Amino acid sequence: MTRDDENHLRRAIELAAKARETGDAPFGSLLVGPDGAVLAEAHNTVLSDGDISAHPELKLARWAARELDPEAAAATTMYTSCQPCGMCTGAIARSGLGRVVFALSNEQFATLKPGGWPHVPQEGPALFDEARVPIDDYYR
Ligand SMILES: [Zn+2]
Repeated sequence: MTRDDENHLRRAIELAAKARETGDAPFGSLLVGPDGAVLAEAHNTVLSDGDISAHPELKLARWAARELDPEAAAATTMYTSCQPCGMCTGAIARSGLGRVVFALSNEQFATLKPGGWPHVPQEGPALFDEARVPIDDYYR
């Protein structure tokens, strides 16, 4: 991690503080190009938007997928005040971003947020022969 990385992380932490000041959960992120230019910034707006998916990392991943071609997306780095959650990790992978740098790890965050997240049981797989029909030949 370079000094530039740390400076971008400090901006992510500032955005997290801004989210808290405006009544949202304290998380912030930014997307930086290969030349160090800030391409986009976001903070958590779950409460103010009434949207459980309004995490800054997810908003930036969606922005990158919409606004950048794959090569440009792969050249970016996301800086974020906390390690991305599972939802955002999936979106970051799908958007093709090149790198993620975070401040607090999930383990460190867990020491600050008692209780963690509820576990939702999943059941499956099932009905393979039926479920595969709409998918057959789609990816060829
Ligand atoms: Zn998230």
